Amino acid sequence: MEVPNTQENMSKCICGRCPSYIQGDTGAFCMTGASDKGPSQKGCFCDDCEIWSEFSLSGEGYYCINGKAS
Ligand code: SF4
Ligand code: SF4
Repeated sequence: MEVPNTQENMSKCICGRCPSYIQGDTGAFCMTGASDKGPSQKGCFCDDCEIWSEFSLSGEGYYCINGKAS
């Protein structure tokens, strides 16, 4: 499911705690699209995020690499 890019949804993002996250990056990649900083897969915390269950997301996560949820 697409996740609306709202301030409320962005505030729930836990990308900042994830080992794949690059400091200073934007986060909320399921809403905004892939990172342009070239992150690599070191684990993804998306399935622990409130947004994951709220918008019935599924799959491997890694929106920072794969792009927006659809
Ligand atoms: S599902 Fe992942 S990318 Fe989307 S808000 Fe949660 S932690 Fe961030
Ligand atoms: S999308 Fe997943 S892998 Fe990428 S920074 Fe967020 S929690 Fe980590």
